[in-house]
Amino acid sequence: MDRRTFLRAASLVGLELAFSLHSRPVQANDSPLAGMRIANACTFPCWAFWPDPNYGDTSQYTMDLEKMHQINMVVSSFAHVGALSGCGECFGYDYTVSKFYYALDNAAKGHFQIIRRAADIPDNVSPDSPPGAIFHIHGGGLLENNPSRLDDLYGLGIRQINLLDNQNYPPTDLGDCQGQAPRFSGMSDLGKQMVERMEALGMIVDVAHATSAALTDICEICTSPVIDSHTSPSLTDQVNDSYRQRSWYEIEQVAKTGGMIATWPFRMGDHRATLASWAREIKETKDRIGIEHIGLGTDGVVPPYIGLVSGYSSILNLADLAQEMLNQGLSIEDIKAFMGGNYLRILGERLV
Ligand SMILES: [Zn+2]
Repeated sequence: MDRRTFLRAASLVGLELAFSLHSRPVQANDSPLAGMRIANACTFPCWAFWPDPNYGDTSQYTMDLEKMHQINMVVSSFAHVGALSGCGECFGYDYTVSKFYYALDNAAKGHFQIIRRAADIPDNVSPDSPPGAIFHIHGGGLLENNPSRLDDLYGLGIRQINLLDNQNYPPTDLGDCQGQAPRFSGMSDLGKQMVERMEALGMIVDVAHATSAALTDICEICTSPVIDSHTSPSLTDQVNDSYRQRSWYEIEQVAKTGGMIATWPFRMGDHRATLASWAREIKETKDRIGIEHIGLGTDGVVPPYIGLVSGYSSILNLADLAQEMLNQGLSIEDIKAFMGGNYLRILGERLV
């Protein structure tokens, strides 16, 4: 089918989005993000795991393919929950793998490209070079205590896993997760074995949702950079395992591996209510730990946008965050590091 016939057919069946990608400009020249390569360490593009990511109205999500094109987001985590099955939702191994097969199909159709090695990440997104997807599993429950499944998942293209899920899912035997009663004083022996295997395979080890003790265990095992893909700094020394934020101590453990914490747009009380407070927090983390250890991990994608900092409803507002970062005295180089440079550096070290 030639392009004209395709466009006519697509509009007839309501798939306007399929070609709107080809007509939208990338980041405007007057944006602080102009010319930058944006990289997102965590998001849940559920549309990518359905038979066709253009099915239905994906523009309602805080991140979709069109928006990725618009801001030159060259790569993002594409996460799917991998919890144990039997929790009332079908998140076990077979179900999760079946969703990644849909994502493989969608990549084959040219909607996005799967990043298996850092060299696969595009320099810029364009109609001929779609955004890159790091296949990411959120929760190691689907491994069902079998480390050899990591090899299978690596073969499928998975390159990032946070072994510990959040408290909404059944606890695994891999280690202690925030918001649940601790059972292992950190990672279990099996969990440590999983971390070692992930590192040997060349996966990104993600400490998201790990308790402070579990995070410390993981950082001690790993000889390569570790990330927390979706959190925010608590800006205190106090560890609080019931809360989804990282203390200075925890960020320092991650930084010692050469890694980073990726921060999200979620509102947390009055102290984290606006884009300006998000930007201030990035500045404080730079001053305390170094700008090379903080990056972007937007996490959730589903509306309504309850619980997000004011001024943020999608990744298009990252340009506004960048402006707030400038207002806080951060430089264009700092913005570049936060918005993608640091995650790209870590991907470059790990995905060889
Ligand atoms: Zn999470």
